[in-house]
Amino acid sequence: MPPQRATIIGLGLSGALLALSLRRSSSTIPTIYELRSSPSTLGGAINLTPPVSRILESLGLLTSAKEIAFETTEIGIFSLYSGAKLGGLPFVDAETGHSSLRIERSLLLGLLLRALEEADVQVVFGKRLEGVRDVDEGRVAAVFADGEEVESELLFGCDGIHSLVRGAYVEPERKATYSGLSSAYGFSASPEGLAEKGGFEGTAVASGMRGSVIVSYCGPGREKVFVGAVMEVKTPEGDRDGWRGKGAMGAEAKKELVERFGGGDPVFRKVVDGVEEWSFFPVWVLPNGGTYWKGRTVLVGDAAHAGPPGGEGAALAMEDAVVLGRLVGKAEEEGASVEAVFRRYEELRRGRVMENYTRASARWEGAKNRSWLVQRCMEFFMWAFLMVYWNNKGWGFEYDAANVELGGKLYVTTLRSWKKYVWATKRPSAPPRSTRSSTKKMLGPVDAKSAVVTKHLSL
Ligand SMILES: Cc1cc2nc3c(=O)[nH]c(=O)nc-3n(C[C@H](O)[C@H](O)[C@H](O)COP(=O)(O)OP(=O)(O)OC[C@H]3O[C@@H](n4cnc5c(N)ncnc54)[C@H](O)[C@@H]3O)c2cc1C
Repeated sequence: MPPQRATIIGLGLSGALLALSLRRSSSTIPTIYELRSSPSTLGGAINLTPPVSRILESLGLLTSAKEIAFETTEIGIFSLYSGAKLGGLPFVDAETGHSSLRIERSLLLGLLLRALEEADVQVVFGKRLEGVRDVDEGRVAAVFADGEEVESELLFGCDGIHSLVRGAYVEPERKATYSGLSSAYGFSASPEGLAEKGGFEGTAVASGMRGSVIVSYCGPGREKVFVGAVMEVKTPEGDRDGWRGKGAMGAEAKKELVERFGGGDPVFRKVVDGVEEWSFFPVWVLPNGGTYWKGRTVLVGDAAHAGPPGGEGAALAMEDAVVLGRLVGKAEEEGASVEAVFRRYEELRRGRVMENYTRASARWEGAKNRSWLVQRCMEFFMWAFLMVYWNNKGWGFEYDAANVELGGKLYVTTLRSWKKYVWATKRPSAPPRSTRSSTKKMLGPVDAKSAVVTKHLSL
């Protein structure tokens, strides 16, 4: 495969990481198209697992990320009612010491935007994809709402759970469905008593009969607390935009959340009560399985495999992106076809994604409503459950997307694609191979002060 032009749809975590990975590992030139008119400042604070810390380290971004995140090695499990600690989930790779980071999504995106700028990646805002069209055997066109069509040799659908790339082209029959659970989140100042709370090491999940709530510092200073609640909410399917459009919930909704999650423990109550503005997200999921690619187009991250949130969706999206970028580089070296790249990508990622899906589904069940008796039993046996079963499961925290084995040689599918490769690599217009080392230099550590991007990228 010769160096190519790549169109990336969506500036989420997978889109940003894919562009960085392509610049680092291949000579392919990516351009990102994002429907929002400027970088999004939406979103709560997400937990990035040890494999993401490893990815950020490989890009020279870990130090900057730690300057704007809360670093944690454990999620404490608490009773919402008594406030007692029931156990803990280790969130660290015991072998390498890579920890987890709780980070505000908008700050993380700012950090990645800065890295994209340094890597010379063009980001075009305000471009809504409306369709995908095959041009000929060698090119595919992204059709935008403003009428423009952009042709390229590769098209990456990094456009999230409601992916248009998937719905209009790759696999229209695989549709997202509402999970029956919703998430609400907000921020609160750290209340008196939280830092001193017995067993609290910075991140706690407290479960009750009507859902669970996560309480976590989200910056290095420990003064700001992220509060995220997960609860069963019945809603008719199909009104995803209207429901989402409500955004910050009103006083009624706040009252309901305080009732649900204020619990009996005074410290948790203060934290939940302290949230001024709640934002509300219905959680949608894709059926496990399906295909990730068609022709010259491939799905990445949530667009390919959004499962129930188990705290690892972002990690999977970022891992996909890094592995795929590396495979494109490998194909360029070996003269392999696009099809070979996408096939290998699906082979390499499918098992890990499916394992995660199963694990997340089990955890997700725990957020559903339960009776008083079930709640009491759960609290009583939690320590045994964690010790005997949960903490002995493989969590896959050792996964290293930047170095994981990519398998043997990719193959060249047809004589025609081989001839095309030989011809194209002789073309004077192909980007020089030296681009690689220079882009590596461009991806050096990013200054944390510039992590919050408030301006549009100059294009
Ligand atoms: C409430 C909530 C909490 C979560 N918490 C965690 C957590 O703690 N840890 C964790 O690992 N994961 C978490 N996740 C999951 C995680 O956020 C996702 O898995 C991750 O963001 C997926 O990244 P992505 O790049 O694939 O998609 P997205 O982040 O959804 O990005 C898609 C991008 O594509 C753009 N786009 C969409 N359609 C178009 C179009 N037609 N044209 C152009 N652009 C388009 C969108 O505007 C967006 O910028 C959470 C999810 C939710 C909903």
